[in-house]
Amino acid sequence: MKSLTKELWFETKQRREFINITDQVEALVAASGVQEGLCLVNAMHITASVFINDDESGLHRDFDIWLEKLAPHEPVSSYYHNRGEDNADAHMKRQIMGREVVVAITQGRLHLGPWEQIFYGEFDGQRRKRVLVKIIGE
Ligand code: ZN
Repeated sequence: MKSLTKELWFETKQRREFINITDQVEALVAASGVQEGLCLVNAMHITASVFINDDESGLHRDFDIWLEKLAPHEPVSSYYHNRGEDNADAHMKRQIMGREVVVAITQGRLHLGPWEQIFYGEFDGQRRKRVLVKIIGE
């Protein structure tokens, strides 16, 4: 069995940001030499997500507005978690958008649907955070 393990680092300029990481993950699949297998991609932080959806800027604004309605950042004092912190909303946003994705590898490529792209979702950014990529197969 072949395998490849790699941590990708991110430091977003904004507090909340979505970054398309499909090309980075695809490059790791190519580097792994795996032709048939699985690729796990997970956020290593509890205030960030990895998810699959469309790379369409309107949709990303819609996600941001929707998440702000569900778990608004302000007022920070409205959350029990924010006694000494200010990121309770980010924990909740991460929970909704998910921790990880698993994508099939077929003939050496990510086997994504026609509009599927892999995103890093940051909800408490402006500091260095990691995503784990684990690829296994033959
Ligand atoms: Zn926290």
